[in-house]
Amino acid sequence: MKDIKYYKAKYIIVWSEGEHKTLENGYLGVEGDTVAEFCRELPEGAPYEDLGNVAIVPGFVNMHTHPCEVYSLKSYREDIGNPNFYEGTLYDYALVMSLGERGAFLQAKLNLAEILKSGCTTALIYGGGYSRTEAEIAGQMGMRAYVGAPVRAGDRYEEQSIWYSPDGHSIVCELDEKEGFDRIDEAEQLIRDIDGTFDGRIRGIWAPTQTMYCTPDMLKEVRRRADKMDKRITIHGAEGALEFETCIRMYGKTPVELMADTGMLGEDVTVAHCLNITGQSEINMAGDKDLKLLGGSRTTVAHCPIAIARGGNTLQSFRKYQEYGVNMTIGTDTFPSDFEQEMRLAAIMGKIVDRTTFAVNAKDIFNAATINGARALGRSDLGRLEKGTKADFVVFELDNIEMSPVRDVVKNIVYSSTRHSVRDVYVDGKCVVKDGKIEGFDEKELARELQEVSEGSWGRTSQHDRFGRNVDELSPLACPKL
Ligand SMILES: [Zn+2]
Repeated sequence: MKDIKYYKAKYIIVWSEGEHKTLENGYLGVEGDTVAEFCRELPEGAPYEDLGNVAIVPGFVNMHTHPCEVYSLKSYREDIGNPNFYEGTLYDYALVMSLGERGAFLQAKLNLAEILKSGCTTALIYGGGYSRTEAEIAGQMGMRAYVGAPVRAGDRYEEQSIWYSPDGHSIVCELDEKEGFDRIDEAEQLIRDIDGTFDGRIRGIWAPTQTMYCTPDMLKEVRRRADKMDKRITIHGAEGALEFETCIRMYGKTPVELMADTGMLGEDVTVAHCLNITGQSEINMAGDKDLKLLGGSRTTVAHCPIAIARGGNTLQSFRKYQEYGVNMTIGTDTFPSDFEQEMRLAAIMGKIVDRTTFAVNAKDIFNAATINGARALGRSDLGRLEKGTKADFVVFELDNIEMSPVRDVVKNIVYSSTRHSVRDVYVDGKCVVKDGKIEGFDEKELARELQEVSEGSWGRTSQHDRFGRNVDELSPLACPKL
């Protein structure tokens, strides 16, 4: 007799005949860490738990996160930017808020909880200087994660900016390739150390920081080692107009062309953002050659609409990328790391850019949030619920303002829900979020300590700023102090 436990729900989004389908008043059978079956009728005498008026959906795959540093931008980097650098803040604003090791730990704890509570059972973690901490916390919290260490032609903790402006209008680039190859060795070591830990939930990935933060030889070396180790790659690319312009000046190539020539495109590569490509309105270079390279190589793009929209920009467009064959996925990148809000904005911006509601729909976005992310990671056992897949699933409460009334669960999730609509989260068949809470996770205490650490750091901002500006000069308060 098999040891299958059944969960009863009003709706279950199951995988059948190559697509997600809605099973009404059914059961999801779980055996250990695996989905055993879904059914309308319970086998006689089988044990089951009635979850009530809820919807069970596959766990979301969040394809771009920075847990250790995400909140150091909050309350500071909004509504600012240097017009000389296409309104960017990367070159002449105090970059690292120096929250230190404790700050990294606190942010990772809070951010991974935020991600998990919004139903992301898998996260691609773009490791910063504290990638081991991120892998450890994700593992302890019970989630699934792919973690990479930073590969950049500079120091490990990004205390020195590789690109900076000495005067607020020109740009200096200091690529230290020797340092870069040390980072590559460290990244390989991280993968060897963490890959397969926590019952296989934690895996390693190669994560070069960005096209312009590495030399072409470094990128080629990453490709060589990734192939040798049979590991995947993720990279920030084509995320800014200045990056596009600089790439043309340095190499005579667009960032997408540079990635194509250095092995940074392909079915095993996820490019974060990738919005500044030929044909985009901010770029005065017409044509679709970049989209052809991305789509032709079946590269994945991790679209993080909130962070990009906050800077006044967006992808042009979700539909177009899909039509060219790009594997579209969704990431939370910065804050809020509320995956439901991210899904909604991806849908809305996709419609606005193409000026039609038909440009992108709830199904496109739900697929991007589930099976497309799984495909990017080479995992046919994630992002869907059918016999043999991992028992990673999310339970949405339906008796609340966000979800009621419900006729179409997926539309409600994409257009109405927030992370507070998520009640429970299961990974590998284990309940890791119950009634919106993670066991042993003291949100208040962690938030209080992060406030303390951040206040200390804001007080020291002028020491990190090239022009000695304090935090209020860099980022004036929305409402000035009385
Ligand atoms: Zn990022």
